[in-house]
Amino acid sequence: MSAMKSEATPPAAGGRVAAQRAFAGNRLLASLKPADRALLEPHLEPVSLYQGEVLFEPGDDVTRTYFPGPGTMIALVVLLQNGRAVEAATVGREGALGGIVSSGQKPAFARAEVQLPGPALRIETARLEDAKRRSDSLADLFCRYADVLLAQIVQSVACNLLHPLEARCARWLLTTQDRVDSPEIALTQEALAEMLGVQRTYVTSVAKTLRERGLIAYGRGRIRILDRARLEAAACECHAAVRAHFERVLPEVKPQPIVTAKI
Ligand SMILES: [Zn+2]
Repeated sequence: MSAMKSEATPPAAGGRVAAQRAFAGNRLLASLKPADRALLEPHLEPVSLYQGEVLFEPGDDVTRTYFPGPGTMIALVVLLQNGRAVEAATVGREGALGGIVSSGQKPAFARAEVQLPGPALRIETARLEDAKRRSDSLADLFCRYADVLLAQIVQSVACNLLHPLEARCARWLLTTQDRVDSPEIALTQEALAEMLGVQRTYVTSVAKTLRERGLIAYGRGRIRILDRARLEAAACECHAAVRAHFERVLPEVKPQPIVTAKI
C-alpha cells in the first residue's frame, strides 16, 4: 500500500476558532506554555484523517508529524515478510506521531495507519524540530513523550510474549478507550486481531467470552465497554503500568477521563 496524503481542511470563516479548538483537542498540545504554543501554532494545519489512511510507510522520510484530535487513533504497525502485520503502539489525543523519537526527517521503521478516523493537526517535522531547537521546554516535553511512547512499545514486547490472549485483548480495549473518551469504540474484530497479532478466529472466541461475562458488547463493527472496572481486572498489568508511567513522566498532560457506558 502506498502512502496517501491527507488533504488539509480548507480555511473557512471561523477557521481560527476551529484551529484553537483543534489545538485544545490534543492533550499534549493543550499542555504547552503560551510561548511554546506560539512557536508551533502558526505551522499547525488542521486535517481530517480517514480510516485506513497510511501516514507513512517503512522507509519513508517522516516529513510530517501528526497530533490526533478527539476520537482519532493512529497505530504504529510492524509489517512482517509473511504478510502479517502487528501493532506496536497506538497514539491518540494524548500524543503525537511522526518525527518524535527520531528527532528529524529519518526513515520510518514502522507503518503509521489511521485506525479510528477523525481530526488531527499536522506540522512539517522540520518546523517542529526548529521549534524544539528554540525552546528547551518544548524539546524536553517531546523528549519525555518519546519516553512514554517507547515504554508502550517495550511493555508490548513482554505482553505479547507472556500474557494470555484474553488479558491482552482487555488491555487493548482499555487503551483504545483511553484514546477515544467514549465507552463505544468503532473497532472491528479484524482490527482487534491485528492489534493482537493473532487470527481473527481467536479474537472472536475471546470477545465472546468477555461478552458472556458482561464486560463488553459488540456488533456492527463497534465494541462497547460495559464494565470498565471488571475489564481492568481482566486485563494484564500492562495497561495500568503504561498509564502510570505516562502520568509520572508527563504529569502536565492531563489523563483521559474514564467513561463508563450507561446500560
Ligand atoms: Zn500484558
